[in-house]
Amino acid sequence: MIENLTEGQERAEYGTFDASLLSGGLIARSEADRLDALSDLNIMDTPPDERFDRVVRLATAYFGMPVCKITLVGKDRNWYKACAGTRETDAPRSKAICSYAILSNEPLVVPDLTEHPRFRTYPAVTGNGKFRFYAGAPITLENGIRVGSFCLMDTKPHPEFGEEQIRFLTDLAQIVAHELILHRDVERAGANREERDALTGLLNAVSIERELQIAIDHPMADAQGMAVLYVDIDDFGEVNNDYGKHAGDLLLKATARRLEDLAGQDLAIGRISGDKFLVMVKSVQSAAKLHRLVRQVQQLLSAPVHIGEGFIHPTVSIGVALGPPSDGKATTFQRHASWAIQEAKSLGINQLKFFSEKEYERNQDDLRLATDLRNAIANNELELYYQPFVDLKNGRVVGYEALLRWHHPEKGMIMPSKFIPIAEQTRQISALGTWALNRACEDAMSWNENLFVSVNLSPLQFKRQDVTEVISTALKSSGLPGHRLEIEITENALIDDFEAVNDKLQAISALGVTVTLDDFGTGYCNLNYLASLKIDKLKIDKAFIGSVERDDRTRTIVAMIANLSRYLNTSVVAEGVELHTQHEIVRMIGCDIGQGFLYGKPLPKQQQDANRVYSFA
Ligand code: C2E
Ligand code: MG
Ligand code: MG
Repeated sequence: MIENLTEGQERAEYGTFDASLLSGGLIARSEADRLDALSDLNIMDTPPDERFDRVVRLATAYFGMPVCKITLVGKDRNWYKACAGTRETDAPRSKAICSYAILSNEPLVVPDLTEHPRFRTYPAVTGNGKFRFYAGAPITLENGIRVGSFCLMDTKPHPEFGEEQIRFLTDLAQIVAHELILHRDVERAGANREERDALTGLLNAVSIERELQIAIDHPMADAQGMAVLYVDIDDFGEVNNDYGKHAGDLLLKATARRLEDLAGQDLAIGRISGDKFLVMVKSVQSAAKLHRLVRQVQQLLSAPVHIGEGFIHPTVSIGVALGPPSDGKATTFQRHASWAIQEAKSLGINQLKFFSEKEYERNQDDLRLATDLRNAIANNELELYYQPFVDLKNGRVVGYEALLRWHHPEKGMIMPSKFIPIAEQTRQISALGTWALNRACEDAMSWNENLFVSVNLSPLQFKRQDVTEVISTALKSSGLPGHRLEIEITENALIDDFEAVNDKLQAISALGVTVTLDDFGTGYCNLNYLASLKIDKLKIDKAFIGSVERDDRTRTIVAMIANLSRYLNTSVVAEGVELHTQHEIVRMIGCDIGQGFLYGKPLPKQQQDANRVYSFA
């Protein structure tokens, strides 16, 4: 085409301007597509922009020509995003040379306009400008659509304008195209941030929150209340892993479409993040109706979804918050729904949970405690209490169990049943357990050397930490001989890879340390395990001891455990002995050691009386 023009040949389509010609390029596109792409750029009539001005300045300097323009060819009007050497900002499309520069992928170069059969009558040539030269490279977007021309004009003809200049002109047009695409994408992202989620087209997190606030501020006339549903696809990560991200996207889109079908005057839908959607119920008429809606959502979203080769059968969990909240804030409303969905998800799949102020407050308290707990060791707020073990044959104290106490600066003493689970949930249990173990060993060093100390280990600590290492370090640094230390673990600690558990128990045993199975009879109890693992003591749970004098069946169970332990060659501890009758029974049955309020409550170490002999005659 360049050759054609430099040879002065006329191209048929230059005869008349006809928009239908625009579809005749290398990539066939309709003019409608082109105008769409142009409007998508969001560039027409925008204020001057240095990024584009700079390219125009560079071009005039390099080519030494007075006029350079970035022309965008609109439906009827050509508009200049940037220009040098002219005051005009636009021109009618039908009278502009640039309108022709977008007809081909190749630049349009006219060395002398006065010789060109069509352009010589154009206003640019005949008017004040008296232009003789034109060269315009199409500005082509990534999809092949040509939205405008990067052009040079001069009042002098340029027969010498050759390949090298054309290449440079084309490069500059490409830079401009790149900037336009960038501008469009930034604008688009900005718009999306404001409004829609790119994948599903639903309202995004920002806009649904805004909508929610509006709905709170302007309640519907007939509304008894409002509700926010957080809907979360169960095991969404597995869909992504098993079938690929594309399948995950399809599932998200299908979920969005299904939710959208529900949307109406009093329902709005948004995507909060990942696989989490929000359904805003602006008017709740009754609890029954809301329940029905929630079930409907759950059913609707559980229908199979086609993902290419097959179907996925999704389930969703839903957290519901009723409102509006007392502070009238959308963020609070969402926090409540978010809490509810977390609770729902912790229950399993296909779950439903309503927000509960009471449970939420308790949770918040736990969260605060978890934070405080992080400083408890450093602030010296932890203490070990000691509760005696008594030899049931002679009433002598044989050792003590170390039991943690937390002296909270505001709340006073907090019991382990409260803070140990929090420590487990917030991964602080190992630090706590290590501290207790070290302190117990140090404390035991000041006791009579016949006495042992028994320390509880959380199942999580037992599983996660290198407990053997921790135990041996505690022994070394305190100087306590291994045989004076016992550790108490519960059956839950043993539910794991048998080999791993066995190795750990063997290693602990090799340090001379005794292993006691605490709360025996309440947990997961596999006798087979028990026979094969290195367990030295069984500690019968206090729930059994508590009813041993009243209940024949319990008495039988305790007797069986005592027999079993003889067979397994382990000793038996009865925990929670409070009454003399209980003491008599467990002694008769054959338990070796007793522990409980009858013999002594847990007390700070200074208050222990190790020489006391219990006499039960
Ligand atoms: P556990 O190891 O089974 O300890 C026995 C619990 O029963 C202790 O409660 C003790 O005070 C209580 N108790 C003892 N004798 C009697 C009795 O005659 N009657 C009644 N009703 N209760 C009795 P505590 O000190 O509140 O400890 C509760 C649990 O917290 C312990 O149960 C143990 O599982 C855990 N724990 C305590 N200290 C630690 C620790 O340092 N590390 C870990 N991981 N857990 C600990
Ligand atoms: Mg214990
Ligand atoms: Mg116990």
